[in-house]
Formats: sequence, structure tokens, C-alpha cells
Amino acid sequence: MSKHRVTLIPGDGIGPECVNAAVDIINATGVEIEWIERHAGERVFAEGIASGVRPDTIDSINDTRLVLKGPLGTPVGYGEKSANVTLRKLFETYANIRPVRELPGVHTPYSGRGIDLVVVRENVEDLYAGIEHMQTPDVAQCLKLISAKGSEKIIRLAFEFARSEGRKSVACATKSNIMKLTEGEMKRTFERIAPEYPEIEAWHVIIDNCAHQLVKKPEQFDVIVTTNMNGDIISDLTSALVGGLGFAPSANLGSDVAIFEAVHGSAPKYAGKNVINPTAVVLSGMMMLKHLGEFEAAEAVEHAVLVTLGQGKLTGDVVGYDKGVSTSDYTKAVMENLGQRAEGWKVRSASPIKLPKLSRDQVFRPATTKEVVGGDIFVESSLVPAVLGPSLETIAAESRLRLKMISNRGTKVYPEGNPNIDCVSHHRCRFVAREGEAITFADVLALAEKVNATHEVCHIERLLVIDGAPGFTKAQGED
Ligand code: NAP
Repeated sequence: MSKHRVTLIPGDGIGPECVNAAVDIINATGVEIEWIERHAGERVFAEGIASGVRPDTIDSINDTRLVLKGPLGTPVGYGEKSANVTLRKLFETYANIRPVRELPGVHTPYSGRGIDLVVVRENVEDLYAGIEHMQTPDVAQCLKLISAKGSEKIIRLAFEFARSEGRKSVACATKSNIMKLTEGEMKRTFERIAPEYPEIEAWHVIIDNCAHQLVKKPEQFDVIVTTNMNGDIISDLTSALVGGLGFAPSANLGSDVAIFEAVHGSAPKYAGKNVINPTAVVLSGMMMLKHLGEFEAAEAVEHAVLVTLGQGKLTGDVVGYDKGVSTSDYTKAVMENLGQRAEGWKVRSASPIKLPKLSRDQVFRPATTKEVVGGDIFVESSLVPAVLGPSLETIAAESRLRLKMISNRGTKVYPEGNPNIDCVSHHRCRFVAREGEAITFADVLALAEKVNATHEVCHIERLLVIDGAPGFTKAQGED
């Protein structure tokens, strides 16, 4: 068989120690890999490259399409970008797969309960698009973007991943009860696609209850698919269930590129001390072997890790740094245990994941009808609603739109608003078409211009009806 080619990024802090351990163990399996070492992170920021990723690193990834990497630090003082986020966005690795499992010798309050679950986290959308604006000097906004295409890709991938590992259930965790359009998009997509995988049980759980259930009865979960921020939080929670970040591997999968790395960061205080736990990167390497189709070698690595831990060879993060084995001794033990099987401990055999192939067309789900029925004109104002409302009604008197209501941070405050609301300077003023008027967005813009002549307009949103369904939600208290 020809050699696999992998871009290797040692990373910062404890990164090189973890990555060297993984490379030594993978090489010892006999799988032939040409490691192409490239750099990203702190030293690249220090060279003055604002993205933290060198051009030759990008070229190498474009060539190999496969990365094993150590954690990258985001130093304060060299710009604001994270090199990790740069890599994820550059290569559109839209899925983050984070498995956790019970490990021998690593005692936790959950030992003996057989935790073996995977969080499949959407990796590029949601609040992590990082689109933030100050709407007024005292009100900040972050856009939560969830697309139909992004949801379909991650949901399909979660089911395909479950199928590839013979897993029995996929839970979709969202906050769709509150965010009906954004989180609801993921839930609806899940419900639409689940019947295509009849052998897998599909169920929905609200994300806060999911966190509660994960602490109470984690063994009920198999695969959990969720939006970016939900996934970020619950995947750290799930790593803690099985012994902490030292044991949490991950894969960032895109249609063309896969990046394997630990969930943890560069833990700089332990750098170069030969004391840290390299298991998370070693198991990330094991996931990479599966991705390469080297299933036997992947199973051998997982068994060797389980045998080593079962022998009580534990690093300082588990047993205290006065008692733990060194990183190099742990690595040597795993290499010596290659070929052994961890009796009584299950290792999943896998088959290749069928990555969803979706069109790159800009418009993924075109609408048959799209009608503008009004506009939300956001106004920065220190006026109380009882004064702002009549002023806006006067301004709109000649317009084809009328003021329906004003809300403040989502709750209606005019007309007849909730008197308990502690208003801030950011008012969402909802204008709708007058009875019998057909309007366009130009009418909304013309009205906004008039409003802006007296008040300060800070944001405008169209009120759309798409294929007969409202493309906006109501304020609390709005009829
Ligand atoms: P961190 O590096 O994950 O370290 C937090 C703590 O976790 C450590 O102090 C240590 O705990 C423990 N830990 C993490 N990995 C360990 C290992 N392999 N073995 C033993 N203990 C381990 O998080 P951070 O301190 O917040 O971040 C440090 C830097 O890493 C930052 O620059 C951050 O931006 C970056 N980062 C990078 C990535 C990535 O590259 N994907 C991810 C996260 C963070 P104790 O102190 O309790 O011993």
C-alpha cells in the first residue's frame, strides 16, 4: 500500500510533546505515513503573520488534505485572530466530532457506567461566525446565523458517523423552544432527515435538559448532534465525565479536509516538563487512522491505550504530579502494549464515514414566494416608549406602513407595554403594511430615512413571509 501523507503541526506549549507521542505510537503500528511538518500558532504570529498560519502550511494542507495537530496558543498582543479558527474556516471543517468513553484505571464518579458517547458539533456557523456590532453605545449584538445547508450537512454527517460506528441512537440537542427560527432550523432538518436512517433511533432533547441528563444519566446517550455554541459547552462537560481534557480527542471534518486534534489547549505551564497526558492527541491520531481506512491499526492503538491505563500507568493529571508517570514513559508503555487486547473493554470497529455531498450552490433552498410585509426599524433613543411611540406614529402617518408595536430587548413596551420593563436605549419599532397595501423593501427604507431625520436609526430588518410562513418571530406580549 502507498504511504499516506499527513501535514503535522506540532503546535505550542505542550503540543510538541503530545504530537511526538502520537507520531511515535502511530509509526509503531506499521502504518506508513509521510509526516510533513509545518507550523502555525505563536511562533507564526511572532513572525508578523496575522492569521497565525504560514502560507506553506496552507499549501501543505491543500496538498495532503489531512492534518494532525497540537494545540495552538492565541498570544495576546499579536492581533486578535485564533490560528485554530483560521484553519477551521479556511478549510470549512464544518463538523467537530468529540467522542468520550470510560477508561480503565481512570476513576471518576461515573466509573462502571459504561459512558461511550460522541458529540457532533456544528463548527462554523451560529454565534461563532463572530459577527458582532455595537447597536448603541450600551447595547451589543452578536448574530446567530444558522443555515439550511449548514444544518443539513451536520445532521447527515451525524447519522453517517453513527452508521459507520454501528451506533444505535442520535439525539439532536437544541434550544428550539426559544429560538424557533435558528435552533428550530436544526431541529426541523433533523426531523426531516432522520427517517432516511430507520435503523437509528432519533430523538430531540432541549439543550439545557441535555446538560442535566448528561450529568444525571450519561449512559443514555450515544451520538448527540447540536449547534456550535451548545456543542462547545456540552463537549467540555462530556470530557469531564471520563477524566478530563487529557483524554478528549477530536476530529474537524470538512468535505475535503480533516483536521485531528485534542480538545485541550497548549497548557503552557507544563510545556517541556515531560509530565502531561498525551492521550487526547494519541486518540485523535487513532481517529485519523480510522479516517484513513486503517481500522486495524486504529483498534490496536485504542486497545494499547486501554491496556496501558489498566496497568495503572497514569500521568499526573489523573494521580497527581508527584505520582504520575512521565509523558515519555507513558508513550513507551503504549508502544510496548501494541498488539495486546484490553480484556473486558469494548473497542468499536468502524467502517468509512460517507461524507454528505451537498451542492456548493449559493441558494440551497430557494423560495417559491417571498413577500415583504413590514420592517423592524431599530432606533437608538433615550425617550420612554410612551413618547417615542406617538412620535413614530406621526412620522409614519403618510406612509404605507403603520407602527404595530415597539419592543425593548424582545418584550413589547408600546402600545400598552409591560410597565416592569427596564428599557435600554435600543428600541425595535415594528412597522407593518397598512390594510390593503402591498409594500416593498423600498417603502421600509423610505420610512427608515424619515424616522432617521428625527431619531437615530441603528438597524433595519425586513419582515418577510416566505412560502406562506412568517420569517420572523413575535415579541413577548405581541398579538
Ligand atoms: P488548556 O491549555 O486546555 O489548559 C487548561 C488546563 O487543562 C491545564 O492547565 C491543565 O489543568 C489541563 N490540561 C490540558 N491539557 C492537558 C494535558 N494534555 N495533560 C494534562 N493536563 C492538561 O486551556 P487554556 O489554559 O485555557 O489555554 C491555553 C492556550 O491554549 C490558550 O492560548 C488557548 O487559546 C489555547 N487553546 C488552543 C486550543 C486548540 O489549539 N485547539 C484549544 C483550547 C485552547 P491543571 O491546571 O488543572 O493541571
